[in-house]
Amino acid sequence: MIRAIRLLIILGLGVWAALYLREMGGIVEITVGSTFIGIPVWLGLLALVIGFVVLHSILSAWKWLRGWPARIRARRQERHRREGDAAVTRALVALAAGTPDQARLEIRRARSMLGDTPHTLLLTAEAERMAGRNDSANEAFKLLAQREDGKFLGLRGLLRDAMQREDWPAAQRLAREAEAAQPGAAWVREERAALALRTRDWKEALALSPPDQLTGHRRAALALAAAMQDPETASALEKQALAADPGFAPAALAVARRQAAEGSPRRAKTTLQATWKLAPHPDIAEAYLADEVDALGRVKAAETLTHENRTHPESRLVLGRTALAAGLTGRARAELEALVNSGGADRRAFLAMVDMDAVELGDSAAGRSAEAKWLRAAAAAPPEPRWQCLSCGTTHRKWEPICEECGTPGRIEWTGSAPTRGGALATT
Ligand SMILES: [Zn+2]
Repeated sequence: MIRAIRLLIILGLGVWAALYLREMGGIVEITVGSTFIGIPVWLGLLALVIGFVVLHSILSAWKWLRGWPARIRARRQERHRREGDAAVTRALVALAAGTPDQARLEIRRARSMLGDTPHTLLLTAEAERMAGRNDSANEAFKLLAQREDGKFLGLRGLLRDAMQREDWPAAQRLAREAEAAQPGAAWVREERAALALRTRDWKEALALSPPDQLTGHRRAALALAAAMQDPETASALEKQALAADPGFAPAALAVARRQAAEGSPRRAKTTLQATWKLAPHPDIAEAYLADEVDALGRVKAAETLTHENRTHPESRLVLGRTALAAGLTGRARAELEALVNSGGADRRAFLAMVDMDAVELGDSAAGRSAEAKWLRAAAAAPPEPRWQCLSCGTTHRKWEPICEECGTPGRIEWTGSAPTRGGALATT
């Protein structure tokens, strides 16, 4: 509206100026050589204006014509982007729905529209992987890894694949590259920790596990495993293991063994006692009593070891057995009967009763009947605790960082310990 009014005013002024000039008269003279042209001023001005308008129109038309191909290109690109985006969305939906063939179809369409972008390459790889075509997936991941903006994503995909194929050297190289591409990324750290576990590099796994995530028994198991691998730092790692889980018998035994070797047998015994207080273990009793040759001395030592955890079945068992070996049958009977009556007795307690009755009753009718009774009880009693792989159930003679039977790290647990103490090095 305002524009129309303005145009009207300008037109009015133009007409008024033309009339005014016509009224005023006057001539514009143009002389070229001997040719002379004379036109009225108003006509000259009008010709000038018309000439300007015509020239402007011609130039505008030329510019518009020249921009034509670019405009067509832009329109096509816009259409491609729109259709490509829609195909990406459909591919995502297909991936989420678990239909990899549909996803591959859509992502191929998107790639032809949008070209190789980090998005299309990543989706291609995921769709191919879901369809079980790992080679094609790796092709896409490799293309992605070559780009500056998709390097980490590409390396991540390749690393995941290498770990799945159990190609550890390749996985380690890719993890290093991923770490360089994205230093400090939590995911890389976790993968490297998992990789270290798979390659049995316990020390590296321990170093890569964040202290807030790896605690208690899991840290103790990993530290002890690392100590077994590296004699240089074994002493510190064993202490670290025992500090992480003071009830972890293998760690206590390792620390005590080192203390005794360093000439501090008293400190070694204190270490064993401290762990016995938390979680009695027959190996600890064995180590504690090892240097006592005299039977009565062994009874005394057993008393010292167990006095802070007096009623634990392992305490009663070691007291009963040492007393029996020293001929203190009354003492042995008191301990073993208390153990049997407590309901916490396993097979070993009943077999000790057999031994005790054999000593006390000898080869008599009463002795034979007592033996039969305890043997029956032993057969029905729960088995003695042992080191067992919680993953495959294989029994192991001693604690090991990894089960050689099934290859699972950190799942060998003492079946006599409270279930809450259990835990794997990794959740693999
Ligand atoms: Zn196993």
